[in-house]
Amino acid sequence: MEKQNLLEVRDLHVSFKTYNGEVQAVRGVSFDVKKGETVAIVGESGCGKSVTSQTIMRLIPQPPGWIKSGEILFDGQDLTKLSEKQMEAVRGKEIAMIFQDPMTSLNPTMTVGKQIMEGLIKHQNLGKDQARERALEMLRLVGIPSPERRINQYPHQFSGGMRQRAMIAIALACAPKLLIADEPTTALDVTIQAQILDLMNDLKEKLETSTILITHDLGVVAETADRVVVMYAGKVIETGTVDEIFYRPRHPYTWGLMGSMPRLDLSREKELTPILGTPPDLLSPPKGCPFAGRCKYAMKICKQQMPETTSLQESGSHQVACWLEHPMAPAVEPPVEMVGGGSK
Ligand code: SF4
Repeated sequence: MEKQNLLEVRDLHVSFKTYNGEVQAVRGVSFDVKKGETVAIVGESGCGKSVTSQTIMRLIPQPPGWIKSGEILFDGQDLTKLSEKQMEAVRGKEIAMIFQDPMTSLNPTMTVGKQIMEGLIKHQNLGKDQARERALEMLRLVGIPSPERRINQYPHQFSGGMRQRAMIAIALACAPKLLIADEPTTALDVTIQAQILDLMNDLKEKLETSTILITHDLGVVAETADRVVVMYAGKVIETGTVDEIFYRPRHPYTWGLMGSMPRLDLSREKELTPILGTPPDLLSPPKGCPFAGRCKYAMKICKQQMPETTSLQESGSHQVACWLEHPMAPAVEPPVEMVGGGSK
């Protein structure tokens, strides 16, 4: 049975006012997240992935930022229309966020236990004793040893990996329907990173939480995601299941992204090929395809008009915005290393 959508982002536009003019950071982004699904948003720095996730939480500073248009339908209600007070009830309880650096979100002056209990008392009306029991349960669930002792300790008494686990415990304590994880493992060493990814996969199974994973690390995507949204210059340029994006990518930028990043899923030694050039200036974005300036397949039309999004099969799971999908376009073969990727 097809799972229902928990989140539907529709034609979202977000801009920031700067001294030089309006930076159009997010330009018509649409994607869905189903119940219990992990969707990874990938792309280079400045592609709009973090602005999109912060807008869902309504965490972009306004001003200088503002939501120009679009809808963020979460469980049927449009988050762009909620007051700050209504959003406060959503944050932490319905949607929680974990960040790259736990020290920026953990309160150094409060014990880890109190920080987990805070949300439970506020959002779930638990008494102090019940909240403490639940906090212990969460510490156990995220694999923190000796939780009875750890619950009374401060963040600086935890190692980096343990702090990340504590932040996940705080985020998941109120059993949010949606977890937004922004580069959750980037600051961790490889062994701890693998443990945190295992933990996130495990919790997804146990708690059925939907997750938006913001990352530039395709290895992390391969380990955890069900579907992938590829962003470039504030736009979604390709979406698909992990298999479709990893083994049958269709957008030249996705080919470049795959070729330029180390991948944990490929055992063979592969030389990394950087994507030459820089993304366009979002103060005055191009009217055509934003990748045209870096794309070796660019045609005249690419610079004149943004390509429509094409569904590559009936289910619509794999979509791409590229003129190469037009029936009149010349046939272009993906780079050799992308072909089948050695099908899974
Ligand atoms: Fe390249 Fe044109 Fe496709 Fe853009 S639309 S990625 S410029 S071929």
